[in-house]
Amino acid sequence: MTETLTARYPDLDGKLAVVTGGGRGIGLATAHRLIEQGANVVLLDLAMTVGQLTGSATGLQTVGGEIAGHFLRLDVTDDEAVEAASQTIAQELGVPDILLNAAGICRNAPAETMATADWDRVIGVNLSGLYYATRAFGRQMVERGSGAIVNIASMSGLISNYPQTQVAYNASKAGVAHLTRSIAAEWAPHGVRVNAVSPGYIGTEMSLPAMTQRPEWAAMWLERTPLGRIGTPDEVANVILFLAADASSYVIGSDFVVDGGYTIW
Ligand code: NDP
Repeated sequence: MTETLTARYPDLDGKLAVVTGGGRGIGLATAHRLIEQGANVVLLDLAMTVGQLTGSATGLQTVGGEIAGHFLRLDVTDDEAVEAASQTIAQELGVPDILLNAAGICRNAPAETMATADWDRVIGVNLSGLYYATRAFGRQMVERGSGAIVNIASMSGLISNYPQTQVAYNASKAGVAHLTRSIAAEWAPHGVRVNAVSPGYIGTEMSLPAMTQRPEWAAMWLERTPLGRIGTPDEVANVILFLAADASSYVIGSDFVVDGGYTIW
């Protein structure tokens, strides 16, 4: 594994960033990198996996210890709760400058037998929930006239993963990439840039347990990845930082693939 270097983006200093799915994985790793750049971070998730929470469990809490930021318990599929969260954050901390939509889930099931509940939940979190957060926080950014939104799509929106079956996930991520292009065009005149990143296999709770439980899947994934390894959350975070910072001021509606080359073959 290579050492991950992080560029300095001085304009991120003092910015307010909201991260859905920030309780762990790529969202949490990016939150760490944003804090290093001087940003103030609000983590929205079903739960936090690190740090110590203080404050009311139903309101904005402070996270101390391993990470210094704020936490608000939120299910992104609850559109009214997302709206309420955006109001709470605006009142207590201000309108965010950056929104990272990282909340996501995957369900593996054959298309012909997948339960409706699994389809609904995957589309609900990955596509509808991402839209609810984009709508709520993006509206505030549009009113102010500035902001940067980064959506985590996936290479699964470009290719169909093999050998596992995950039609709902793949469809949801293709939707995220096109939602990104659509809203990027709508909000460009309002100073709000919207972009996506599409990771390949990254070492988080979403992929690592499957790699242990299904070594035949892991072997196939690595064989099909030209770099021959999975990526780290930090390697995705680096691209997200670029898209959140003014360094990408002329980049909108893009989908940056961070997959070790998986989609080349
Ligand atoms: P993780 O499972 O580690 O993190 C996802 C986070 O999202 C978890 O903390 C999870 O909470 C949270 N979450 C799930 N459902 C909701 C919800 N309804 N409301 C709020 N938060 C929720 O996975 P990753 O960090 O790997 O995933 C981050 C993003 O990257 C996802 O969108 C994923 O699809 C995408 N991605 C990941 C890849 C990978 O290989 N890891 C590859 C390509 C894309 P909880 O644990 O409590 O459910």
